[in-house]
Amino acid sequence: MTESGESRPALLFEEPPGVYLGVQGSDAAFPVHRIYCVGRNYREHAREMGESTREPPFFFSKPRDAVCTENIIPWPAMTDDLHHEVELVVAMGSGGVNLSPETALSAVFGYAVGVDLTRRDLQAEAKEQGRPWTTAKAFDHSAPVSSINPAAKIGHPDASAIRLSVNGQQRQQGATSDMTWSVAEIIAELSRYFELKPGDLVFTGTPSGVAALQPGDRVKAAVDTVGELNFEMGAAPAD
Ligand code: MN
Repeated sequence: MTESGESRPALLFEEPPGVYLGVQGSDAAFPVHRIYCVGRNYREHAREMGESTREPPFFFSKPRDAVCTENIIPWPAMTDDLHHEVELVVAMGSGGVNLSPETALSAVFGYAVGVDLTRRDLQAEAKEQGRPWTTAKAFDHSAPVSSINPAAKIGHPDASAIRLSVNGQQRQQGATSDMTWSVAEIIAELSRYFELKPGDLVFTGTPSGVAALQPGDRVKAAVDTVGELNFEMGAAPAD
């Protein structure tokens, strides 16, 4: 019996564990529901990916258990071109459908720093063949995320510096004010397609400077006022 009193079937195997993020200044954890991502939300990054026309941003997703909070990220299989994309991550505290840009921010619990790890070689192949991006974007450990900083404490970082360095060398630098769609517009647009729920994470796109990682690289990602995310890429498996 569940708490609500309905009976439930015996389970064939153990349920998958929940996925949780820490919350700065709190002992409570943030339970993750879904992960939505925005593609091509900073003009300079769209340009470096070869997009000359000004197409609007779009959505893709990662599975919830792609979230990775460990300090060492296992080196992913099946790629020779693993790229970093530093992103401001929105953590939803409530949800709904057809939210307006004017009310969308009231559904935000807080913000985190994330990296949308991308198998760029598989993505290029998928683009060329008109296939989905699942193997390029939604693999295990593809979504390292920091703890969440509550909006009640920091407000909404709409003009914050966002940057990423590898082994101490700056690779990506931008400002959240350079987004094509603002956080409010992203949430409103997403909620036209999906019912947003508390626990949803939204990766809001990356500034220019995306590049390849190597096994053993130390990555530091940061969004001013939000926080920092540090991790190291694991060793490549022996052939
Ligand atoms: Mn991205």
